[in-house]
Amino acid sequence: MFAPMERTGLQDLHFWHDPETGLQAIIAIHDTFRGPAIGGCRFISYSSFDDAVQDATRLAQGMSYKAALAGLPHGGGKSVIIRPDDLTDRAALMRAFGRFVESLGGRYITAMDSGTQVTDMDQIARETSYVTCTSTMGDPSPSTAKGVLAGIRASIGFLDKRQDLDGVHVAIQGLGHVGYALARLLHDSGVHLTVADINTQRALDACAEFGATVVESDEIYAVEADVFAPCGLGGVLNETTIPKLKCRCVAGSANNQLADDNSGMQLHQRGILYAPDYLINSGGLMFVALRHGRHSERMIDAKIASIRHSLLELYRHADKVDMPTHLIADQRAEAILRQAAHRDAA
Ligand code: NAD
Repeated sequence: MFAPMERTGLQDLHFWHDPETGLQAIIAIHDTFRGPAIGGCRFISYSSFDDAVQDATRLAQGMSYKAALAGLPHGGGKSVIIRPDDLTDRAALMRAFGRFVESLGGRYITAMDSGTQVTDMDQIARETSYVTCTSTMGDPSPSTAKGVLAGIRASIGFLDKRQDLDGVHVAIQGLGHVGYALARLLHDSGVHLTVADINTQRALDACAEFGATVVESDEIYAVEADVFAPCGLGGVLNETTIPKLKCRCVAGSANNQLADDNSGMQLHQRGILYAPDYLINSGGLMFVALRHGRHSERMIDAKIASIRHSLLELYRHADKVDMPTHLIADQRAEAILRQAAHRDAA
């Protein structure tokens, strides 16, 4: 149990079983030196308990990096509720999870993630105030999409030294909460779209609404586009897919896009600009953290827009030192976290 904690630098790992509702949940707190840990709650099936622990641990670390680079006064955390085979009372399960969150006294603030929705957050909020994405606060996905748009502007700005996106071609993989909102924003900016989703209806909707060209899921990698925007799954940039890419840059919302460090290196060697995932997709985290902190809409929008500048500055630095962008992002996030830990120890 301690090996993955040591490997990722996780501070604490909590388990909770509620016999009445059958809740089995894990909260992983990676870092609290910069403020309370924040991050979503997954509600999915796992093939083993170890898989669930590994998922929470790995994702909590990613949230620390994301919050650090976004300049938010938070550390990273993540929780998982192991989805039972025989779910009878979802609301009661979520309330039991709310009591788990409350028991940590504010060290962890929860939010929506894969498998959870606004109505679940409303149930959790009946037991704790350490929750975001309730129906009064809203879904972070539109903010994530705005951040990705800002990131695509930075990427095209860096490659072509231009401010607009008129006539740019973007291939979007996955038209869910973020991908579809992104498609709308890009269409409104004059972008030509090619899209793919395993849910063919979503792709057809994008064709009807935005005039997008639809391709099969496995064809999206080889589309000759300026930008490939992965907005579906993690791990999609790997040794099988990278050789197929015909884009000039990868900029999308999916978490953990790179299968491993080597994939980031492969993109760099192929001269494909990569927008580090936890930087370009941080708009949603900015929204939940700042809404929770009661900041104004204006301030939140300005923060999300700042992703453009952050990414542009990172691209310039990576170019100057000839290093892959994901390594620069990791180094910067780790330096910020180390600094906060030292400050705390002093
Ligand atoms: P979602 O579940 O609403 O959408 C995912 C979409 O991808 C679905 O339409 C699904 O059918 C499609 N998809 C799945 N596999 C596919 C494949 N092989 N090819 C094509 N399409 C495929 O999820 P979401 O909330 O839109 O999030 C998308 C990604 O962005 C996820 O990786 C998520 O972790 C990440 N992310 C989301 C947010 C947010 O605010 N929602 C914030 C940060 C990161």
